[in-house]
Amino acid sequence: MSLIKNKRNSQEDNQADPNGVAENKTKELTAMEQRQRQRFIDKATKVSGKYLRRLEELPGAPAAMQPFFKVLRDIYVEMKNVEKAAETKIVGTYCVMVPHELIYAVGAQPVKLCSGSYTAFAIGDDLVPRDACPLIKAVMGFQAMEVMPIYEDCALMVVPITCDCKKKMAGMLKEMVPTYSLHVPTSKSDDTDMEQYVQELYQLIPELEAVTGQTITYQGLAKSIDQMGFAQYEMSKFNDYKKHVPALIKGTHAMALMNAFSYMPVAQWSQQLHLLNRELARRKKDRQFVSKDKQPRIMVTGSPIIFPNIKIPLLIEETGGILVGDETCMGERSIYDPTVVVDQSFDGLMRSLANRYTRPCTCPTFVDNDQRIYRIKQMIADHQVQGVVYHVLRGCLVYDFEYQTLEDELGKLGIPVVRVESDYNEEDIEQLRIRIEAFIELIKLKDLAARPKKAEIAD
Ligand code: SF4
Ligand code: SF4
Repeated sequence: MSLIKNKRNSQEDNQADPNGVAENKTKELTAMEQRQRQRFIDKATKVSGKYLRRLEELPGAPAAMQPFFKVLRDIYVEMKNVEKAAETKIVGTYCVMVPHELIYAVGAQPVKLCSGSYTAFAIGDDLVPRDACPLIKAVMGFQAMEVMPIYEDCALMVVPITCDCKKKMAGMLKEMVPTYSLHVPTSKSDDTDMEQYVQELYQLIPELEAVTGQTITYQGLAKSIDQMGFAQYEMSKFNDYKKHVPALIKGTHAMALMNAFSYMPVAQWSQQLHLLNRELARRKKDRQFVSKDKQPRIMVTGSPIIFPNIKIPLLIEETGGILVGDETCMGERSIYDPTVVVDQSFDGLMRSLANRYTRPCTCPTFVDNDQRIYRIKQMIADHQVQGVVYHVLRGCLVYDFEYQTLEDELGKLGIPVVRVESDYNEEDIEQLRIRIEAFIELIKLKDLAARPKKAEIAD
């Protein structure tokens, strides 16, 4: 049963019955909604708490991970709002292609609202077509239940129109909350497409300014580009530590760090990452590793992996692998590349942002995707990856389309790939465990001498 449908029905009942019978029914319904909501909260927080515990109990978490775990606990287990001043407005985003710099430049806080909640997915399953991806179902589930502060407190939602699911989700959200559909280019090599995106970003400015009443100035924008630049710098150092053999940090913990990025002000997140990097530097010096020399080094790519749906990375690391690379858009992709400003005018900053948020993006929603394959090969070489887990969320066609090309390309390098399809529930865990365990065993059995040389892959 959907709360949205209930809400609409009770409004219609009230109109048809001005004498108050429906009013009582509405009150009754509200009490029922309350119970339904409480059940939802109990279940959602229990599931999130369980996955957070598994994350924290996974051996080897650096002490500096605690603030990131706390953020995930606050948002998903305690169901609190993001940490911010009371007057700070939240702007919700639904993809890495929304420039956070523009949101910071109006004094608002960006929060990435893509969701991995199994409980919200179960509610959303009733609201959108069966074959829609679980990410969309989870978002619509939270929206319908009206219990998550990060959704409820959102002054504006910015939804990039990247795939059919996002397009239809934007339409549904628009009926309920202020929503801006951001048209992103389909082709990065097409200058007309890119020019349109620059104009799109210009059109987004008044929408954002209306949220806080603050105008975007050259200085404000330059400052937020610098602020993000510091995060990108710390991220590049973190990536270097992640390349270390044996590993200095588990990939599942690195994923938690990147998930926390969605809910923390960038300055605070960068500061915590700086402390984490210092701890990793100490670990390197003291030769304190979290993997053994010959433990299979795995990379994950494909559909987004969003807390609490972290069953795939957990399975990889609980069955003997070490997750050294995360190419999903919840990984380093969101802040990997710095914004390169060539022209120091306001328009120059806007164009630099348009380039930064699209050209290096390796999402398969673009028509031209050679760069995606190149980037994955580069990560394989840099992180000495021995096997790739290709994650496809059920209904996520864009990633499924790309699988065969990647398998062919990596086959030429002798890198095994396994495609794992999953949904937002726990029913497929055992099946996934068997496949991932077998994949890791296969890699273990391969002669270490067959590990690809960095130079060969770079060719
Ligand atoms: S998978 Fe692609 S379209 Fe979806 S949120 Fe990530 S970058 Fe955006
Ligand atoms: S890219 Fe895939 S996961 Fe993201 S919204 Fe579209 S279908 Fe869903």
